[in-house]
Amino acid sequence: MKAKFDVFVERCDVGLGLFAARSFRKGECMIVFEGPLVEGHEGRLLSDAIQIGPEVYIDPVPPGKYVNHSCNPNAGLVNNVYLHALRDIPEGAEIRFDYSTSMGESFWTLECACNSPECRGLVADFVQLPPELRAKYLELGIVQDFIKQGLSRIPRKLSA
Ligand SMILES: [Zn+2]
Repeated sequence: MKAKFDVFVERCDVGLGLFAARSFRKGECMIVFEGPLVEGHEGRLLSDAIQIGPEVYIDPVPPGKYVNHSCNPNAGLVNNVYLHALRDIPEGAEIRFDYSTSMGESFWTLECACNSPECRGLVADFVQLPPELRAKYLELGIVQDFIKQGLSRIPRKLSA
């Protein structure tokens, strides 16, 4: 049986991770996050959730469940659930996105061990990213809609 997406799950330095089963071109959609929607408090308790709205989360089924975070990601979320390649990705490479691009509720952080030179050490909400990085991610179009909508409500001091 052919897998739905050209990816596979394998051990990596932080447990299990998602890997490219073939090379992907920059801009290509690699997987779609699918799974039940969970709202409110229950959603916040999920460990692998993808936030797609205020208090709305997808509890992803495999393979989406296994995508790890990186502070120097090679993938990004487009239109909430589509994971696109941010650069050409060779076969066998691990696929990671920046969790902060889908985090907007100021209650959850993750200690990062991505080992990239850009590592922030702590993964937190989008609004807490350095301004240059926020601008870069916004320009790439890989920030969840609900976060973009919320940005207009952030005091100028934070969003500058
Ligand atoms: Zn990191």
